Amino acid sequence: MTQRVALIGHPLRRRHSELMHNAAFNHWGIDARYELHDLEPEELDGFVAEVREGGWLGFQITAPYKQTVMEYVDEVEPDATAIGAVNSVLRQAGGGLVGFNTDTTGFRRAAEGELGIQFSGIRAVVAGAGGAARAVVHALLAGGADAVTVGNRTLSRAQALAAQFGAPVRAVDLGTAFHDELDRADLAVNATTVGMMTPGAAFDVTPLPGTAAVYDLVYEPAESELLARARARGLSAANGLGMLVSQAETAFERWTGIPGTGSVMRAAISR
Ligand code: NAP
Repeated sequence: MTQRVALIGHPLRRRHSELMHNAAFNHWGIDARYELHDLEPEELDGFVAEVREGGWLGFQITAPYKQTVMEYVDEVEPDATAIGAVNSVLRQAGGGLVGFNTDTTGFRRAAEGELGIQFSGIRAVVAGAGGAARAVVHALLAGGADAVTVGNRTLSRAQALAAQFGAPVRAVDLGTAFHDELDRADLAVNATTVGMMTPGAAFDVTPLPGTAAVYDLVYEPAESELLARARARGLSAANGLGMLVSQAETAFERWTGIPGTGSVMRAAISR
């Protein structure tokens, strides 16, 4: 019987996950398919019950259900608890559901790998205070960053994030206070939707030191305004595609036991 996995969310705007996972299932000859399920909130209950019944490897979750789904699973792994969001679920043989989060390892592998940096001892600035920013901050702390400044348009959200993680995370507004932090940053991260949902750049790259690196979680367009400006300055810079692929690779490995699917997945979304 064909095993199933799905991405649930509302609305579902992108097909990258479907393309990546189905390419990997095909490549490794696994009889399974990845589906997109655009669910209304009242459909969540029925969906999870169906997964428990059988025929499913697990599922993935995007906005707005990454927090809600934590109430539906039997176990939430520590990374996901720290971030406060589950983006992937593994169905165990007996129907038990384990929630985990692949964004933290996805971000760390992609940023350290593509930018040629180590998080240990660095000063980082992060624009944004949503779910993605929490995964980024968790990865930076786990990697041993010395200082993390979070700047957000809505300051109270950045303050809540900083309070959740504690020192060395600080909250500032995304205006002047964030700008003033840039000249001491080793790594600047965009974890806002600016560049993807809204035109422009989340922050000005001009004050960054020449040795700083820029990671933009945005992957569509492939070169956001922020990245174009960073590259024009000669800074090391990467878009969020590597994180997207790396987090998918982790989920795939949890479901199937097969590691190292990244290049097949990346090829599928590059086509
Ligand atoms: P979210 O929870 O909705 O948070 C959105 C963030 O963007 C908030 O900090 C919000 O600030 C900020 N924002 C929105 N419009 C803004 C504007 N006009 N000016 C300044 N700030 C603005 O979203 P999320 O899940 O964290 O995702 C954030 C981004 O990361 C999205 O573009 C998403 O596609 C991307 N992402 C990429 C990957 C990957 O694998 N590459 C993984 C996860 C997410 P307020 O709090 O003030 O509203």
